[in-house]
Amino acid sequence: MPERRAITVSGVVQGVGFRPFVYRLASETGLAGHVQNGADGVRIEGEGEQEELDAFLTALRGRAPPLARVDAVEVEPLPPRGEEEFWIRDSGCSPERDLCVPPDTAPCPACLEELWDPGDRRHRYPFLSCTRCGPRFTIVRGLPYDRPRTSMAGFPLCSACREEYEDPGDRRFHAQPTACPDCGPRPWLEEATGETVETADPIGDAAAALRDGRLLGVKGRGGYHIACDALDPDAVSRLRRRKGRPARPLAVMAPDGEWIRSMCRIREEAEREALASPRRPIVLLQARADAPVADGVAPGVGDLGVMLPYTPLHHLLVEAVGAPLVLTSGNDSGEPIVYRDDARDRLREIVDLLLVHDRAIETRCDDSVVRVMAGGATPIRRSRGWVPEPVDLPEVPSAAGGARPTVLAVGGHLKNTFCLSRGRTAYPSQHVGDLESPDTFRALREGVDHFLELFGSVPDVIARDAHPDYLSTRLARELADRFPDAASVAVQHHHAHVAGCVAEHGRRGPVLGLAFDGTGYGPDDRIWGGELLLCDGPSFERLGHLRYTPLPGGEAAIREPWRSAAAHLRAACGPDLGAGRFDAAQRLEKAVGVERWKGVRELMRRDVNCPRSSSVGRLFDAAASLLGLRHDAEFQAQAAMELEAAADPDAVGRYPVEISDGGDVPVWDPSPTLVALLQDRRSGADVASAAARFHRAVAEAAVELCRRALGARSDADLDAVALSGGVFQNRFLTRRTARDLEAAGFEPLLHRRVPPNDGGLSYGQAAVAAARFASESRPAKGDEPGASDATDRGGRRPVEGGSVAAADGKDGVCRGRTDEGRGQQCV
Ligand code: ZN
Ligand code: ZN
Ligand code: FE
Repeated sequence: MPERRAITVSGVVQGVGFRPFVYRLASETGLAGHVQNGADGVRIEGEGEQEELDAFLTALRGRAPPLARVDAVEVEPLPPRGEEEFWIRDSGCSPERDLCVPPDTAPCPACLEELWDPGDRRHRYPFLSCTRCGPRFTIVRGLPYDRPRTSMAGFPLCSACREEYEDPGDRRFHAQPTACPDCGPRPWLEEATGETVETADPIGDAAAALRDGRLLGVKGRGGYHIACDALDPDAVSRLRRRKGRPARPLAVMAPDGEWIRSMCRIREEAEREALASPRRPIVLLQARADAPVADGVAPGVGDLGVMLPYTPLHHLLVEAVGAPLVLTSGNDSGEPIVYRDDARDRLREIVDLLLVHDRAIETRCDDSVVRVMAGGATPIRRSRGWVPEPVDLPEVPSAAGGARPTVLAVGGHLKNTFCLSRGRTAYPSQHVGDLESPDTFRALREGVDHFLELFGSVPDVIARDAHPDYLSTRLARELADRFPDAASVAVQHHHAHVAGCVAEHGRRGPVLGLAFDGTGYGPDDRIWGGELLLCDGPSFERLGHLRYTPLPGGEAAIREPWRSAAAHLRAACGPDLGAGRFDAAQRLEKAVGVERWKGVRELMRRDVNCPRSSSVGRLFDAAASLLGLRHDAEFQAQAAMELEAAADPDAVGRYPVEISDGGDVPVWDPSPTLVALLQDRRSGADVASAAARFHRAVAEAAVELCRRALGARSDADLDAVALSGGVFQNRFLTRRTARDLEAAGFEPLLHRRVPPNDGGLSYGQAAVAAARFASESRPAKGDEPGASDATDRGGRRPVEGGSVAAADGKDGVCRGRTDEGRGQQCV
């Protein structure tokens, strides 16, 4: 019968290699359990047969390391757990299983030196790493973070590596993923058929194939990528054709900074810092007109997404090619990135060759993307290199008993992430993707399970978007069944956007927030996306918005910007769409074809299938289409990105802005702005100037909405304005809005830790839910019966997303709706 003991060793036992000694001893005697540094010495839990425990205790005193001094050994019995392994807990790890796994990082300078040093035993070894660098999150199977619980478990250390691993003075002391050519993973090259290519230099051969214009699948850190020579137009167009991705920009990995400077303009220090950071994100930089990359890499948009190598394998590969590579996630268009080896068959139809290795990727983790705006880096996608690093939530005055809930927030529909928070610490997940395929939905489920498992967490609250039909909402319902004691909270989409931005700045409100967005479900059953909100902890109030416009075809407008153009044209010019004054309607008809045009005019005339939308994203679509830039989009926001790229910052002037105070709250009427744009074009202004003037009008509207809101209120301390929503990925607009807000006496709060797009929703949902939980003892604002999804579960009080001033002026509660089908599909 195995027994278990708690053993506390006091004396000089820390920083002297005591834990590795204990680890070695436990392995020798066959004990399971763990060792960790504690406040009063070293704490060991050992499990094994009586005689094994006795032998262990004797050796513990007698064979301690030379620098150690054992003063006392206290032993207490514990119930056995049936454990089979012994591991060393990191000092920072508390027994409550805080996630002590760091994010994955690029090779450190010391490792790089070894990589290129012909005299080093790890010369050109593609899997070298140390305590300061290497894979972490993507190789973890379970916690605590220790080699047997990583995908390095199958690679026993050779004696040379073990010596380093056990030497407290070595940079590889307890480096869990450490390896060398003798004991670690190895790379090889496969044909698309799956046959192994016989070669002594798989990386060199892969590089030669890339130089020949072939497509290469590469097993990277968080998944498989597809690579090709970025300078080769044929290779790039073949990659696009085979992947089914005609236009979306592709990322480029460059061998060094010099190559990046030849392709892009680095204008801010923060851009340089982001590129060189060990997190190694893709950085969106303004492309040079004479950039040597093929035109097909990022057509139409002004920026190029570039990064430096982030694994030793990537370093070796790009060095051997000697030119930048397109490196795009290995998947079919719209599917999650492939990361399991058995799934790489799916890539064989796309690529000619595969460069693979035998270290498993345990968790998929896409490349992160940042864009430097208004002086700092804003994450566009927060994934590899960041996850699972926490982002704090603001301190909230807690209810009696100091509730510190565990919240699981499942995020939105597009660019999905989820977020687990415990008390003030929130862990936003890696990028999951658009929940538009069964595989992506499965990826979300797997990701959530992996997090819950890693943290050993049971959620007290499950937070989600208020949209009834999102797949993430479906997952929230499944989770509610699985965790019947958890309360449910539905958070309005734009409330979550703004609350996230407010929370990452450590504030809890009241703070003004502008949510300029694609679309989100409004509590009045309309499509929101141009909102001025007042965020106050768990609740919000709508203080202004873009005028509602009937959108013919609803969600179809996302892929067909010309529909937004038709809608706004009709609102601005009347049922004849300005015929006789402007040629915009004629041009649209010509561009999209008579049939489609007639159909949409008919929808608008009869007001059928025309949901009302206050989306600024759709307003940008309308402007882009009216300027002839794009009528049909391959991906969301493509038109807006092209409008931004077209805008000439040197063109002077802006179009007029009209905000009416007639209703309950100020309403921004975009028609005068669009009419001015059409007039400007009629009198010969070029697209670049018109685009710039339009951007400035939107910034002016943003600032004016804030001024009006403030003017209508007595609490003049509302001086900060959070800028959130997908539209604030636009650098031109963000910079201008931040500048104008400052000039008007406001402090702009920009996203710096989670994305302004829907990738940031889960963190915002967690912030709202945590604040709500903490305020539970206070009367719930607008508490009403009938909130089916916010009902009492397991004796807990109902939890709502917060109260809002609905469009009819009455205070309503934004809550989950189960009346499926009532809400429009707003993605
Ligand atoms: Zn290193
Ligand atoms: Zn080794
Ligand atoms: Fe959104």
